[in-house]
Amino acid sequence: MAAETYLFLCLKDNYGVLLHDTATGATAAIDAPEAAPIEAALKQKRWKLTDILVTHHHADHTGGIAELKARHKCRVVAPKAEAAKIPLVDETVKEGDKVNVGKLSANVIETPGHTAGHITFWFHGDKLAFAGDTLFSIGCGRVIEGTPEMMWTSLKKLRDLPGDTKVYCGHEYTLANIKFAQTIEPGNAALQARAAQAAKQIADKQWTIPTTIDEEKAANVFLRADVPAVAAAVGLAGKPATEVFAEVRARKNKF
Ligand SMILES: [Zn+2]
Repeated sequence: MAAETYLFLCLKDNYGVLLHDTATGATAAIDAPEAAPIEAALKQKRWKLTDILVTHHHADHTGGIAELKARHKCRVVAPKAEAAKIPLVDETVKEGDKVNVGKLSANVIETPGHTAGHITFWFHGDKLAFAGDTLFSIGCGRVIEGTPEMMWTSLKKLRDLPGDTKVYCGHEYTLANIKFAQTIEPGNAALQARAAQAAKQIADKQWTIPTTIDEEKAANVFLRADVPAVAAAVGLAGKPATEVFAEVRARKNKF
């Protein structure tokens, strides 16, 4: 496989990730929370930054763009709907567009809800998805600019990706997300297994991501709003999944 990834922390709990095409040497940063850790990661891997792929406009995903672009003259690819809020954009993309990093190719999937124009980059050939603040490991982003219905629709699009797709997300929130998910599905065996795995990963100073679509389908309560047991657990048996999702998200906001 020609794709290599390198994951590291930025700011307080943001993930930075580099995607490298071994065939051409092209390297993309997925979002740019902060320039210094991205520079350190590039140095560590001896990779040269060619692209920044932006998932959404929030400052903790775009704060490093200006400095990185000044130094590397890299291309900045951003969601069309949010380009005005993102510095130094070279190319805008929307649903169905393709983005190449060297010879690696991504499909753009619009996943609004957290922000109105949020996108996910899906490198289908390499079974990788960069979901920003839409889908987290055992969680999902706050619904800030969209509606719960919009976010549920976006999450379903990601849920429909091949099960072995590796998902990289914008933040390390896994343990807190697991604690919350257990309040709704205490008997979910996949969630219990994930809790044990994540605790061990953290103890061993490993990352809890990437996760996979299959793992998330089994254990992430936010992808399970159409499971009858989840609806019943939040007192909404028989109600539409959108309503169940909105209730689960509202409970997480207060958790
Ligand atoms: Zn965000």
